[in-house]
Amino acid sequence: MKKEQKTTELRSKIMRSVKSKNTSTEILVRLILRELGIHYRLHRKDLPSKPDIVIPKYKTVIFVNGCFWHGHNCKKGRLPKTNVDFWKTKIKNNKHRDKRAHKELEKLGWTTLVIWQCETKDLFLLKNFLIDSLNLNQ
Ligand SMILES: [Zn+2]
Repeated sequence: MKKEQKTTELRSKIMRSVKSKNTSTEILVRLILRELGIHYRLHRKDLPSKPDIVIPKYKTVIFVNGCFWHGHNCKKGRLPKTNVDFWKTKIKNNKHRDKRAHKELEKLGWTTLVIWQCETKDLFLLKNFLIDSLNLNQ
């Protein structure tokens, strides 16, 4: 194999893994919902801010938030040490937007759940959170 070819292949491999990292949290949540027999829809455009996961039967929407972009108060949500002001403003705006979206959805009668990326490490807890939030054990 030529060197150049190898580099391109590696690059696309990395790109793929970066991409899938962003959505892997959402995929986990979807897997658990499927296991629980919950029907959901994705990114419904007719709802404010296109929630990641929509569960019509329970009138519930789920946002799967990346800790960094949505300013979670955890290790992964820490701001970079350079361009602090830029990141501060950016994340603050994101948080405002989230808050507004949740309010709008709640006004329309939807329950809003937020699942943070860092909270999906423990699948057992995640599953229990979903069971509790959707009142499935009643
Ligand atoms: Zn977090």
